[in-house]
Amino acid sequence: PSDVRKICVIGAGYVGGPTAAVIALHNPKVGVEVLDRDQRRIERWNSAHLPIHEPGLDKIVRLTRDGAIVNDSGKRATDSNEPVPEAGNVSRRGPNLFFTCDTQVSISTADMIFLAVNTPTKTSGVGAGRATNMRALDGAVQDVALYAKPGTIIVEKSTVPCGTAQRIRNTLDALRPVVPFEVLSNPEFLSEGTAVKNLMRPDRVIIGSSGSPAGKLAADALASLYTAWIPSSQILQINAWSSELSKLVANAMLAQRISSINSISAICEATGADVEEIAKSIGLDTRIGPQFLKAGLGFGGSCFRKDIASLTYLAECLGLEEVAHYWSQVNSINVTQRNRFARKVLRRFDENLSGKKVTLMGFAFKKNTSDARESPAVDVIRTLLEDQPSEIAIFDPYCIEEEMLQEISAAAHGTGDTSTVKIYTDPYEACINSNAILVMTDCDQFKNSPLQRICSRTTSVPDSLSGYPSPAPKPQEDDYLGTSFANYMLAPQPDCVENCPDCRSKARGPVMTEPVEWAR
Ligand code: NAD
Repeated sequence: PSDVRKICVIGAGYVGGPTAAVIALHNPKVGVEVLDRDQRRIERWNSAHLPIHEPGLDKIVRLTRDGAIVNDSGKRATDSNEPVPEAGNVSRRGPNLFFTCDTQVSISTADMIFLAVNTPTKTSGVGAGRATNMRALDGAVQDVALYAKPGTIIVEKSTVPCGTAQRIRNTLDALRPVVPFEVLSNPEFLSEGTAVKNLMRPDRVIIGSSGSPAGKLAADALASLYTAWIPSSQILQINAWSSELSKLVANAMLAQRISSINSISAICEATGADVEEIAKSIGLDTRIGPQFLKAGLGFGGSCFRKDIASLTYLAECLGLEEVAHYWSQVNSINVTQRNRFARKVLRRFDENLSGKKVTLMGFAFKKNTSDARESPAVDVIRTLLEDQPSEIAIFDPYCIEEEMLQEISAAAHGTGDTSTVKIYTDPYEACINSNAILVMTDCDQFKNSPLQRICSRTTSVPDSLSGYPSPAPKPQEDDYLGTSFANYMLAPQPDCVENCPDCRSKARGPVMTEPVEWAR
């Protein structure tokens, strides 16, 4: 768009980073700068090793951040450091994506500012456990009030409580009276693990505005950034309250389906019905559909639980107790499901893990991400640690050791000895002499792995611990958790070496040379 030449995205996280990269990719004439207070994070965005793992993201960041040579259709022709080919249809593009810690310069030079900072649940004070902690967002708005030039369009990208656009307007009015700023709501619906795909082909883009003529103009300016790659029919302009609430409702509805099927899984385990068959049977009903119907360990990640809590708090504040109770049950079932799983493991060992090694395959809250925030694995580990196993071994293809240990220590806070937790970079090593292997995510790497070989490396424990069918069904693409595989608990098969041709061949060679791609 002609009047938006420079964008500042505040918050270089799972949303800010990929969103900025995709906007930059499709708007090569717009400079997109991602601003964060966390210098280490910015350094990593500027390095060859990005701070988050998202399939396809590296390529886009390299193209937009480092610049490249592209052909007429905007496609990358060669690497930027290669000589420009003779052909006339090739030109140099970018760079137009930048990462910085310079708050003043970044904000003061922007025509449009996206707020993509974290909005976790409050842990203390009024509304603790339900209300949204607005500290990061308020801090970013203060910086905007301090440095933004008049007329800069402010866009809420973060998931925020209803009424936040008005809250931002009030702050700006108080700190910069008479200076015009429009505040838009533009919630992000991407899923981690498929962020690039979701950003490239979103089902819809929601833009909420004040509805005033100036608000509509601002909304049009934002829409024109998106129409560079998204059909305008998929861009919905609505009022800011609806827009803010849409995001909470979308997440609440998705999570509700997961809790619904998980509540049924408990009935299935008690009756002999098969939850996979139920999911298939009901999912074929076009009114229900197959998505988000995989029973498993429940949802994790930084969004679902907190957004339901925020919706619950809103209902509470409005005096709608039954509504609040209804939605809070989605979170309650989720907690129950994780506990049920951990208790099942403990029961298998007669509530005594002393001298036992338990291996967790997968630590992130779902596949294809390095994000371990609110991961089911953390809760399961905390429960297991209370029974003092000799070792909790963890392998995850993307998570960083330091972050994993931090999550575990924070969750355990004094209830268990975390010194028995060991992180492995080799999945087979992690499984050696294990008494139980818990497959926590439906990582493709785990599915492709020769599980029998893993089994042959474990100590002998008879009969399967899993109440779930084998082999694992194929996960659905885009499913938030793909949890059917997650409930697998593999008992080592004592007769594996005898019966398994893989294992027999392994007897002649090292198990670790298996040519499975355990991508890092
Ligand atoms: P994140 O924690 O990964 O990133 C937030 C970043 O903001 C951090 O790097 C932090 O240092 C930075 N920050 C905080 N205050 C700042 C300030 N005043 N100035 C500069 N930087 C500041 O968070 P995220 O997962 O990217 O989520 C961001 C928002 O998007 C949240 O509201 C979340 O609910 C929403 N959301 C997240 C997802 C998801 O899958 N992660 C999806 C949709 C929406």
